[in-house]
Amino acid sequence: MLAETIKQVIRDVPDFPKPGIIFKDITPILLDAELTRKIVNDMAENYKDKCIDAIVGIESRGFWFGIMLANKLDIPFIPIRKKGKLPYKTMSYKYDLEYGTAEVEIHEDALQDNWNVLIHDDLLATGGTAIAAAELIKMQNANVAGFSFVVELDFLEGSKSLSKYSENISSLVH
Ligand code: 5GP
Repeated sequence: MLAETIKQVIRDVPDFPKPGIIFKDITPILLDAELTRKIVNDMAENYKDKCIDAIVGIESRGFWFGIMLANKLDIPFIPIRKKGKLPYKTMSYKYDLEYGTAEVEIHEDALQDNWNVLIHDDLLATGGTAIAAAELIKMQNANVAGFSFVVELDFLEGSKSLSKYSENISSLVH
């Protein structure tokens, strides 16, 4: 029911950011305060008994629901950002894209040892971005407690590459 509503609200944008790509635009969800609240409540219900210590959100669309969920669960939120955006000392992880590389960073003092950390992003495609987040969490001696997405593009099979970090992979819409 919630999944069906989300599917109807998400907008397909052809040829963004490059020709041939159909981009799933989730910003229309945020125009609807009630739907946004339902999504946060649904996610919070899923994680409230899972002993999650913190939520890491991936720049920038992972911040939107990541911060709201962390606040609902009354736990810390930590941003992972593209290289050069975080002001304090950082740890970084470089990964391959289809063409070229990307690098993401986390503040070096963001996580505490053995924290159980949930990774949140708006969308799971190949899994490369979520893996980079998982590697940063491991570098800080914390545990990857799971992955949470609003949308998962099943045909790219990203969840297969995430399962070595955690089997707890949850997406509201497939
Ligand atoms: P992956 O690393 O899994 O291949 O790609 C996922 C990352 O790219 C996420 O950070 C996500 O925000 C972004 N992304 C890729 N395609 C889309 C899309 O169609 N819609 C949205 N909203 N984000 C996308």
